[in-house]
This record gives sequence, C-alpha cells and structure tokens, in this order.
Amino acid sequence: MANFNTHLNTAFMVSGTMSLTIYKAGLLDDSGFLMCVALGTIGGLLPDLDSDHSTPIKLGFNITSFVFAFGLVMHWRSELSLLALIVLWLAGYGFMRYAVFSIFTNMTVHRGVIHSVPYMAILGLALTYVSYDILHLSLTVSWFYGLFLFGGALVHLALDEIYSVNLSNMKLKRSSGTAMKFYQHKDKWWYLLLYVILALLVYFAPPFEPFWQQLSDPAPWAQLKVGILPEMIKNMQR
Ligand SMILES: [Zn+2]
Repeated sequence: MANFNTHLNTAFMVSGTMSLTIYKAGLLDDSGFLMCVALGTIGGLLPDLDSDHSTPIKLGFNITSFVFAFGLVMHWRSELSLLALIVLWLAGYGFMRYAVFSIFTNMTVHRGVIHSVPYMAILGLALTYVSYDILHLSLTVSWFYGLFLFGGALVHLALDEIYSVNLSNMKLKRSSGTAMKFYQHKDKWWYLLLYVILALLVYFAPPFEPFWQQLSDPAPWAQLKVGILPEMIKNMQR
C-alpha cells in the first residue's frame, strides 16, 4: 500500500494536470477548475479513510449533510413557508447525517468494502446527483465534479495495486488484483447492497448524453494545440 503523502501528491498532480487541460479547453470556469483539483485530491485520499480515523470522515459527513440540507432549502425556497423550510432543513440534515451516512460508516468497519471501485463510484455519482439536482449547478460541472472524485479514488486504488505488486516482487500473481476491488466473497452482502445503491444512482443520474456530446466536440480541444506546438512544427518545417 502506498502511503498518505504518495497518495496526496499523485492525486494532486493527476487531477491538477487533467483539470488544467479541461480548464484551458474552456469547459470549466475558474471556480470549477479549483473545485476539480480539490475533489480529485480528496478522492485520492478517500479509500483509506476508515473508522480508525473517524474525525476527518465525520467532518466530511457533517459538511456534506449541511450542503445537502441547504440545497434542499434553496430548491424549495418559493414553494414552502418559513416553518416548513426549517422543518425541511432539519429533516434533510438528519436524514443525510444519521440515515445515509450511518450506513456508510458501518461499511467503513469493513475496510474491504470502502476500499473498492463500486463504493467510490457511488460517492462520485452521488456528488454529481447532489450538485446537479439539488445545488442546481450546470450539467457539465456536475459531471466533472463526480468524475474527478471518482477518478481520484481510482488513482488511489491503482497506486495501491502498483505498490502491492512492487513489494511482493516475485509473488506478483498472488497479491495483484487486491487493491482494484470490484467484489469480495467474504463481504458479499455488503457488495450486494453497494451494487443496488449504484444501480439506483445510475438510474436516477443526471443525463450523461449531453455531457458526453460536449466532451466529444473537437472544437474546445483544438484550442489546446494552438500555441507552442504549431509554432514548433512550423519552425521544424522551415
Ligand atoms: Zn489504499
């Protein structure tokens, strides 16, 4: 397993480079760019969070629950009375903090479950969902946020994989495939629950097609080549 600093630095460099590329292509604004770097870096640390280090998790859960509760209130602002909004705020916070996150905290006891691809996919998709449907951010930004969180986590799992292969050297076959985890038989009920949640999130996810079309449009990416590269080619041809 790679250590904390390796995870922090690698996730920061990977998400920094990728979000800079997207930012330069004009698909992210200033704040979106910074958020993607931050989310990618956080994603790179997420899989190692377990119940032994409960303080950062609890802080993260509290912040997420607050954001969720405020998002709900903002969403229903004009339809509901002040009293109803206060009740909604409390209920929304309570639901996230004590219902949704208690399931996730219970899972962290089973380290194999949190240190897995489906768990991280759930967190990424949930972020996209909250960002688009509750905070009303743009579709593009919402998908980028979710993907950066998930991407950071994948970088983490891949790094652990590489390290476990390196450390065990010749015993490569035995330990490879342990970090990049999709399923583990001993936690089969937890994995069943994970895939059910994941399926629900995929079903209710914001539309992916328009986002994908925007990504596959070559025009923004063409801007990246303008600059140093054509100049160099021109000079070489001269
Ligand atoms: Zn790890």
